[in-house]
Amino acid sequence: MLVADYHNHPQAHRTDLPYSPQVLQPWADRARDLGLKDIALTDHDRYKAGFCFDEISKLQEANPDIKIRAGIELDNDPETSADGRNWVETNWDQLDFVLGSVHFVKGFAFDHPNYIAEYDKHDINDLYRDYYAGIKAMASSGLVDSMAHLDLIKIFKFFPTEDLTELYHEVLDLIKAKDLSMEISTAGLRKPIREIYPETKLIEMAKTKAISFTIAGDAHAAQDLAHNYDKLEALLRQLEINEVAVYEQHQRQMISPFL
Ligand SMILES: [Zn+2]
Ligand SMILES: [Zn+2]
Repeated sequence: MLVADYHNHPQAHRTDLPYSPQVLQPWADRARDLGLKDIALTDHDRYKAGFCFDEISKLQEANPDIKIRAGIELDNDPETSADGRNWVETNWDQLDFVLGSVHFVKGFAFDHPNYIAEYDKHDINDLYRDYYAGIKAMASSGLVDSMAHLDLIKIFKFFPTEDLTELYHEVLDLIKAKDLSMEISTAGLRKPIREIYPETKLIEMAKTKAISFTIAGDAHAAQDLAHNYDKLEALLRQLEINEVAVYEQHQRQMISPFL
């Protein structure tokens, strides 16, 4: 078993689940059952209205055996992200951890099945280049600690036809230069791509560059905490990743991921 899960959505993309003991306590209960020691709550910035620092503090006090981090997943939503960036800036000192994500290219939500037809309107290599331009902008924003699901653009198994290795080096070098972590996420295992984000090649490249990793399952319900962590643990052991990053007030600490 692994001890940290740094990408979780207690509000589950809903606006009727603002933070309260009823919404949050099941996450601590499930974490305890699983043996997790350190979890970050990272609802999308567009649901910040339901976010509440006081409720997270209360949850932490009620569950002192588990580290519970106040986090947010900041993305590039053309409608909401300007607000989200302002909110992160305003609340930076109270937040432990910010994930940086790109969910939009050419103005459409490329990871949502409703918009899959949009892929036909674009050159796939352009979409990949746009996606990684968004990743670079997010990594350069000064508002994030770790970059989430770094190759999310592969979600529906549309792959570039050009070799983008040089671009991947640029992106990873930037992540390293900005002293950010990179997430390894099991979310892709339950999507059409059926593999961990990012692909093993990118994880190996990041490891060679001495980039630190956060680990996550991207749960949208408490019972999905640490989803597919047996497969993630096998990958970490295979790649000899023996340390992962956890965060308190944006300060990184490296710990063994293994229980
Ligand atoms: Zn995401
Ligand atoms: Zn997420």
